Amino acid sequence: MEAMLSKHIIMLPFMAQGHLIPFLELAHKILDHNPNFTITIANTPLNINYLRSAIANRPSRIHLKSLSFNSSDHGLPPNSENTDGLSLSQIVTLLHASTALEAPFRRFISDVVSSEGSPRVCIISDVFMGWANGVAKSFGIFHYTFTTCGAYGTAAYCSIWLNFPHRNLVDGGSPEEFVVPGFPESCRFTVMELNQYVRASDGKDEGSRFYQTQISFSLESNGWLCNTVEEVETLGLEVLRNYVKLPVWCIGPLIPSKMLKKNLDSDTSSGISGQRSGKQPGIQLKKCMEWLDSHPTGSVLYISFGSQNTITETQMMELAKGLEESEKPFIWVIRPPIGFDLKGDFRPEWLPSGFEDRIVKQGLVVYEWAPQLEILCHRSTGAFLTHCGWNSVTESLSQGVPLIGWPLAGEQAYNAKMLVEEMGVCVVLTRWVDSRITKEEVSKVINVVLDKSEGGKGEDMRKKAIQLGGLIRGSFEIDTGSSYIAMNDFLTNVLSGFKSVII
Ligand code: UDP
Repeated sequence: MEAMLSKHIIMLPFMAQGHLIPFLELAHKILDHNPNFTITIANTPLNINYLRSAIANRPSRIHLKSLSFNSSDHGLPPNSENTDGLSLSQIVTLLHASTALEAPFRRFISDVVSSEGSPRVCIISDVFMGWANGVAKSFGIFHYTFTTCGAYGTAAYCSIWLNFPHRNLVDGGSPEEFVVPGFPESCRFTVMELNQYVRASDGKDEGSRFYQTQISFSLESNGWLCNTVEEVETLGLEVLRNYVKLPVWCIGPLIPSKMLKKNLDSDTSSGISGQRSGKQPGIQLKKCMEWLDSHPTGSVLYISFGSQNTITETQMMELAKGLEESEKPFIWVIRPPIGFDLKGDFRPEWLPSGFEDRIVKQGLVVYEWAPQLEILCHRSTGAFLTHCGWNSVTESLSQGVPLIGWPLAGEQAYNAKMLVEEMGVCVVLTRWVDSRITKEEVSKVINVVLDKSEGGKGEDMRKKAIQLGGLIRGSFEIDTGSSYIAMNDFLTNVLSGFKSVII
């Protein structure tokens, strides 16, 4: 009789594009796996509109619930409902403002529970929305935490926020290396691998307290879901499991299923719609595909810093010069430098004089947004210069494309560290927006990674990336893939929370 009951999963992502989209993909994956669930994603009105447009072209049974939220009440500019375009201090304000969603979320859960019966409902919330655990407890329902990042990055991020291991060593006079609780002694971290925020914080400021509180609440949930693949992140998962002391189900990577096709297309476009962001005009896609079609296999460097990051004017200038000096073909997604409106017009003086005319044969400059999935799936793409955001990392590795890392925020430097030390598929060019890079360094790294000589570093990285790509693409094989099996186990656990209503 169980199948006749409604089994309702309510999801609560954090208010940022890099969190909303993986939650949406998770909802799709759950329904693909078992269509008997009802899934609702709850968030602020503008984020719900964004999700609505993201599912507009895709058959979907996902329900969306707007929770009332007014950014001006929290000292934010009007209509600031996610991190897009906000400064660091405004993001800290948004973090705090996100806890104001508790009251409307609680009302929503109360309505659902009273109409559907509490044992038929459970919550999956973002690791930064740990307060949802308290809501779940008060209704006696299961609560799970979903981390949209990989295991290694999540473990490092959580342990560093909760323990501040670098502070002890800095105070003790050893600023260079420290061990992060949960990680083996042999895996030393350096201060330069910490993002600017952690480096500058004493652990007592508003932002730190937010992370510490929400992560601690999340550690009380019934289990964690991680956007990764079991066999791809061995060390990261060992550490994460030791750290959270809860079941961790690896149900990733949450990238469009067409990227997980067993055999990659060997010709041109993969046919992925690429409508995740709603920012992608077809003309851009056509231009990129035509350009890639005209280049040899594995020859092109793709450069992008994710959905909301950019670099400084000085860094942009050196990157442009280094690209030119490398003489390698490239596609560069470019947007205004730090300090300017990211969606504003691009000024020629941010690039070397005459750059675009000179590189017309060598490279393609794409303004603001590119069809990343299509580019990474194209046979001509040979390497990806990335900020190491987790979606970019998994998208790239799923296609066997090695990386050049330039972490800019969040847990990105921990991702880069793992890609270098554990996987051997990445070279770090530099880190953060306060670093100084030279055109020589840029050109040198590009030449190393795109070098195809037998026995060279570039070839070794490529082989390792291809091997990981095979594991990633196999992870959702029906009945045998590790992520498929983990999804089964997870949904069985969810159903065990509904047991009391089985009649
Ligand atoms: N993306 C894209 N085109 C762009 C820049 C980004 O399609 O020009 C997509 C990319 O495919 C990925 C997401 O935006 O799915 C970026 O996520 P990631 O986790 O890499 O970085 P974030 O934007 O969260 O920092």
